[in-house]
Amino acid sequence: MGAVPKRKISRHRRGNRRQHLALTAPVLVKCPRCSKPMRAHYACKACGTYKGRQVLKISQPE
Ligand SMILES: [Zn+2]
Repeated sequence: MGAVPKRKISRHRRGNRRQHLALTAPVLVKCPRCSKPMRAHYACKACGTYKGRQVLKISQPE
């Protein structure tokens, strides 16, 4: 057998260790160009612009 913990981790210690593991929801802001919700500090997925500049190619499926 390899290395095995000598004692059970108590509920308190386990919770203490996991206190920083919670996930946070992504920050959503309105796109200044198309006003759709987009992630802050990311290029807009809908119109492909960042800081007023076209940075992504948007293909229209029509
Ligand atoms: Zn946009």
